[in-house]
Amino acid sequence: MAGHMTPEEFRRYGKQVVDWIADYQEKVESYPVQSQVRPGEVLASLPAGPPEEGEGFEAVLADLDRVVMPGITHWQHPSFFAYFPANASGPAILGELLSAGLGVQGMLWATSPACTELETRMLDWLAELLGLPARFRSDGDGGGVIQDSASDAVLIALLAALHRRDGGAAAREGITRRHTLYVSSQTHSSLEKAARVTGIGAANVRVVDVDPDTLAMDPAHLDALITEDIAAGAVPVLACATVGTTSTTAVDPVREIGEVCSRHGVWLHVDAAYAGVAAVCPEFRWVNDGLDGHVDSYATNPHKWLLTNFDCTALWVADRAPLVGALSILPEYLRNRASASGEVIDYRDWQISLGRRFRALKLWAVIRWYGAEGLRAHIRSGVRLAAELASRIGADPGFALLEHHPFGLVCFRPRWEGLPDDEADAATLRVMERLNASGDLYLTHTRVGGRVLLRMAIGAPGTGDAHVEAAWRRIREETAREGRPAGQ
Ligand SMILES: *Cc1c(COP(=O)(O)O)cnc(C)c1O
Repeated sequence: MAGHMTPEEFRRYGKQVVDWIADYQEKVESYPVQSQVRPGEVLASLPAGPPEEGEGFEAVLADLDRVVMPGITHWQHPSFFAYFPANASGPAILGELLSAGLGVQGMLWATSPACTELETRMLDWLAELLGLPARFRSDGDGGGVIQDSASDAVLIALLAALHRRDGGAAAREGITRRHTLYVSSQTHSSLEKAARVTGIGAANVRVVDVDPDTLAMDPAHLDALITEDIAAGAVPVLACATVGTTSTTAVDPVREIGEVCSRHGVWLHVDAAYAGVAAVCPEFRWVNDGLDGHVDSYATNPHKWLLTNFDCTALWVADRAPLVGALSILPEYLRNRASASGEVIDYRDWQISLGRRFRALKLWAVIRWYGAEGLRAHIRSGVRLAAELASRIGADPGFALLEHHPFGLVCFRPRWEGLPDDEADAATLRVMERLNASGDLYLTHTRVGGRVLLRMAIGAPGTGDAHVEAAWRRIREETAREGRPAGQ
């Protein structure tokens, strides 16, 4: 049994696997959206130890249905509205399969030239599709690279920013002065993580005020904090502006923030993890406002809303020199003529780890399958469904709607008549928990101005009018069951 799987065997089981995935796609709607297993249930159905003898692939496929599927939350379910979408698509899945089939390590140009050059071209294509400024493209000083996640992208940006600030002193000698970072209360938690990882320290992450209505960062307060920190002897390193915050898709004023950063020599990273890809549509090009100003790095996730299986974050820098300066280390065993010639990109110098997967293949497959028009149609469908849902919620006196919803996310809450805020919020959360436990749909929540809001993020490839209507009906049903919202 225990030999390698032959190409013939691979052909046989590979076809079964592809059939299994196609069957799953056909019946994904028949599953409860959120997995209903209890903690430890999947663990308990797995043998405590590995088999001594090989078991054959049929056994794996059988256990996939028996052991794994009950413990799956169906992110591709058309009634998955939690967090943000994590789109999978046929071409992306096949691109992943091809990448696995080739099994290359793309750490250096020399370790698989196509892995590097296809990635360079794909990031330039994507820059063009999104209408990003020319300086992010690889034919100038800048360029793009695929990272695992937006969290990695922000860490990479921070390392490049540190390098630009001190010429590598912190990297060589350790951080000896107080360095500061600038975020808002709405910035993704990955910024704080990056502060911890780099040794800058979470206490040196400065929180800039937001406008209480739009939740957008206040550039004047950013300026004041940076000025104060410099006067106190600190070294301001990086500010992070967000286009489409995780909580509510608020949009920071990137241009004004960039002007402040440029005055103080602070690196500006723009995190558009979710919303940035909307720029494939001309009517959403405004999400790029300010990117032509003083922006040093920009990240968006094709793996959220642009039909590309996780992982695929696109990170662009306006100047690749500080990035490579921060991360390039050349041990003897990696020396090679192509790298020494300076004619090639070695993406290991653009990321934390050495090894890297051939992720450009799935992006290539997605962009070629859908074309710009297909990608636009997908974004527009999510936006339209969200706008229609928002207008229903807005017209219902029993619910309060957060007015800002330019993308696929709608935030709202039931209005609980006569309940103090904390009890009302508890009631809202109970409604959400019952909805999620029903398996009919999956929502998450956030807090804005201290109040709990439900988040409904629309953007799975299969989501249509009927799914959003059914969700809205279920939300009203469970709200009515919980109590009596205002006006009903
Ligand atoms: C989702 C999100 C992230 C994190 O993305 P990962 O790729 O999962 O790390 C970061 N920033 C924003 C604004 C996000 O919405």
